[in-house]
Amino acid sequence: MAMNSTFEPIFSQLELAYEPENIYFQTITSMLQASEYLEYPQRLQLILAQPQNEIMVHFPVKMDDGKVRLFKGYRVQHNNVVGPYKGGIRYHPQVSLDHIKALAAIMTIKCALVGLPFGGAKGGLKVDPSALSEGELMRCTRRFTSALKNNIGPEYDIPAPDVGTNANIMAWMADTYINLGDSHQRLRNQSVVTGKPLEFGGSQGREKATGQGVVFIIAELVPEMGITLKGMSYSLIGFGNVGSWTARLLAPYGSLCKCVMDATGAIFNQQGINVEALAEHVKANGGVAGYPGAEAISQKEFYSMEVDVFIPAAMEQMINEDTAKKINCKVLVEAANTPCTPSGERVLEKKGVKVLPAILCNAGGVTVSYFEWKQNRQAETWTAEEVDRQLKRHMIEASNRVKQTAKKLKCDFKNAAYCVALEHIRNVYYIRDIFP
Ligand code: NAD
Repeated sequence: MAMNSTFEPIFSQLELAYEPENIYFQTITSMLQASEYLEYPQRLQLILAQPQNEIMVHFPVKMDDGKVRLFKGYRVQHNNVVGPYKGGIRYHPQVSLDHIKALAAIMTIKCALVGLPFGGAKGGLKVDPSALSEGELMRCTRRFTSALKNNIGPEYDIPAPDVGTNANIMAWMADTYINLGDSHQRLRNQSVVTGKPLEFGGSQGREKATGQGVVFIIAELVPEMGITLKGMSYSLIGFGNVGSWTARLLAPYGSLCKCVMDATGAIFNQQGINVEALAEHVKANGGVAGYPGAEAISQKEFYSMEVDVFIPAAMEQMINEDTAKKINCKVLVEAANTPCTPSGERVLEKKGVKVLPAILCNAGGVTVSYFEWKQNRQAETWTAEEVDRQLKRHMIEASNRVKQTAKKLKCDFKNAAYCVALEHIRNVYYIRDIFP
């Protein structure tokens, strides 16, 4: 069924055919909806509704069996008015242009919300990294980096890890970029990516940064919603980087991880799952399935479990109309980007579930990426304590800006978070104006 959007004039000017549940339209609609609170100039709505650059590359890689396979990769650069493009690179078989466009726009907003001197970008390679050997993964990464080399750079566009990529992959990207560049710029060129290993220009605290940021936000905002962290029960989707660190860093507060679901299955323990032991199990077995300290449950049971807080920390749009109807929680903490579909969001709103928005909750990752970039450029190394201290300051300041804006505009936290970011971007556009 064809549906119209309130923002049809903008979409039709951009020649975009509106699809209500498509993640790109969802993201742009969220941004445009928030911009209405600010009486945003239409020219800026138009600029922000489309990325500045959409780069698509195809390249061959020789596989271990001697055959050649062609790969498809993307880098979408949404906006750089505030500073260089910044955003992760995802390796996943379902990567698509619309998906990467949505995530790039989210990065522009997230960086502006936290006050980082970056714009937004995102990249993706259509591949299942677990199906490649280490050698294939390295050749693929090096070839992808060389295909992108004229479109990335330490002062232009700075990738980082995301789903399916890690510090090793960032090290190969940086090494490739350094080797393709001016040999007198080797140190500078190292900061072309963040999320690198500690031994090769990485930062203390980068691996846990996103989960740490989620926990700073939970500790700041959830008690104000009448839930005490000690004894707070929660369900978690995803036990990868973000999910596992969120759980491990919540444990010292005495919160109770009742259920976890990942790509391998769902588990439950009424007394609370030992998340450190679960992290060991996932490291050894690749997923939560078969963890001996909890019982296996169905997806339906997982979603229906009564908890104080529900934390999606896996893939986008997993909470749809159907799963949202089952969810039984007071607060939903968006650790993953866009974890709900538009219809899922409407169901949660009707049920009165309070939502802490992803652009605030998971901004810790890009914030520590910024610290890494800054350390590389100043040839400095910060201690883990310094990284934590600065991260906490950035997260709490962003959360205060969101709270104040929600109060001033009488809106929810998601609209308020977008408004904080949009106001900052608007101010930069007003100062710089439109070239020429
Ligand atoms: P990851 O690859 O480390 O982990 C992903 C997790 O999701 C795994 O546990 C996997 O089993 C689970 N999963 C995948 N498909 C699933 C399914 N169908 N059902 C249930 N579980 C499923 O990824 P990550 O880095 O933890 O990222 C998770 C989310 O957080 C993504 O939305 C990502 O964009 C976002 N994010 C990550 C960072 C970061 O620094 N890593 C920063 C900001 C936002």
